[in-house]
Amino acid sequence: MTTPAVLILLGPPGAGKGTQARMLEEDFGLVQLSTGDLLRAAVAAGTEAGKTAKAVMETGGLVSDDIVLTILAERMGQPDVGRGVILDGFPRTDVQAAALDALLAGTGQRVTAAISLEVDDEAMVGRVAGRYTCAGCGEGYHDEFKHPATPGVCDKCGGTAFKRRADDNAVTVRERLKAYHTQTAPLITYYDARGVLERIDAMGDIATIRSRLGSIVGRVAAH
Ligand code: AMP
Repeated sequence: MTTPAVLILLGPPGAGKGTQARMLEEDFGLVQLSTGDLLRAAVAAGTEAGKTAKAVMETGGLVSDDIVLTILAERMGQPDVGRGVILDGFPRTDVQAAALDALLAGTGQRVTAAISLEVDDEAMVGRVAGRYTCAGCGEGYHDEFKHPATPGVCDKCGGTAFKRRADDNAVTVRERLKAYHTQTAPLITYYDARGVLERIDAMGDIATIRSRLGSIVGRVAAH
């Protein structure tokens, strides 16, 4: 690969960004970079930024661009990012999109593709309510759509402890959907204008979306 790919997954909460990003890691050797995961790690570590972020995340609003850009820049500076990244949950505002362009320009890079996962909002409330992850490795599961092969045991790491996100409740999800439509969805137009937008119907099952995404990534990212 000459220039590492920079892929963005756009889509509301529950669209499958995290699940699909992990699959793209496996399928293409890219690195998933989720600002939600980075923020949850800061919350768990009890840093100043984490404390500020926690209060906002509980309401379903967006954490300040300042905090998000600081944690993102730190992560982007790590060597594994050189393999190419899938940004999951970032950028979420026009300020973040412009900051990403500036950060990439510093190393002669640009966004390879922004892929919009198109879904039906109402279905997202149910999807989010049923999801949980392995506490050990972060593998995602769902009460309805994706069970571990052996009940209670993670397929990936064999762990037996699972957790659910505090913000995955119906009230907070509605706020997160609102934040997506007012602040993040305009980025679809932003990337369309730059000629890097791809759209996929993301209402199918996990394997179908994986293969739809795989054909786009195979086309846009040299590997
Ligand atoms: P996610 O894991 O992407 O669903 O994000 C969970 C929560 O973290 C969001 O509801 C926001 O409060 C916060 N968050 C994650 N990424 C960002 C971002 N790029 N900008 C602002 N807030 C974010």
